[in-house]
Amino acid sequence: MRLTVLGRSPARPNPGEACAGYLVEGGGARLLVDIGPGVVAQLLMQGHPDELDAVVVSHMHPDHMLDLVTLRYVYPWRSRPRDERLRVIVPPGSTEQLQDLARGVGGRKHLDDVFRLSEHDGRSTMTFGRMAVTPVETQHFIPCWGFRAEADDRLVAYTADTGPCDALHDLATNADLLVSEATLRSVDEDAAPPQARGHLLPAEAGDAARVAGARRLLLTHLPVDEDGAAWARAEAATAYGREVEVAEPQAVYEV
Ligand SMILES: [Zn+2]
Ligand SMILES: [Zn+2]
Repeated sequence: MRLTVLGRSPARPNPGEACAGYLVEGGGARLLVDIGPGVVAQLLMQGHPDELDAVVVSHMHPDHMLDLVTLRYVYPWRSRPRDERLRVIVPPGSTEQLQDLARGVGGRKHLDDVFRLSEHDGRSTMTFGRMAVTPVETQHFIPCWGFRAEADDRLVAYTADTGPCDALHDLATNADLLVSEATLRSVDEDAAPPQARGHLLPAEAGDAARVAGARRLLLTHLPVDEDGAAWARAEAATAYGREVEVAEPQAVYEV
């Protein structure tokens, strides 16, 4: 399998970088997982969106889906024949929210004209070519699903956004590559008790990877100003007990 990082920014973008977006390839399939602001410009450096089997969205926070609006402009303005439309798969109950977004940017059919919108059901495995993608619900401020993508006897796990939780363990178990968010620099940046946590410290990503037996850990969705990337790598490596990588825009990770 192959993972290409299109954006590693948290909601507040790192200068010059896109928010969440990852190309996942394997088993004859090519998926775009998450499509935050700036991702489409990065995607076009890798090819045309028609080369994708689908766009899959983890949750409806803008830093993971807002560039769907931009993606529409890659296509001619007239509506496309239904069977030629790009599949866009969003979380359960989210299509109505997308309709609101479409209305908000000027037209009810802004997205419908060129995309085939559907929802996953939050647990069933989806198949693209010979790639199997299973959503796993994480712990976040709104409903959110990470994904386990399997193809060619390899497994790539993506946490999307999550606080420390049991689901993170299920998600990361035996992953050949765990792509984990590491948004926080301090727990003070997360929700205050009694509200549940919604993000991870780099050390918590390292802990989760170690306990789940993940074979490789790639940190993403993190601020990289000052020594942010080096600090996160060191914190996670100590907890993981081995080397950790920090996602680089446009970098390709062979799994
Ligand atoms: Zn989020
Ligand atoms: Zn996020």
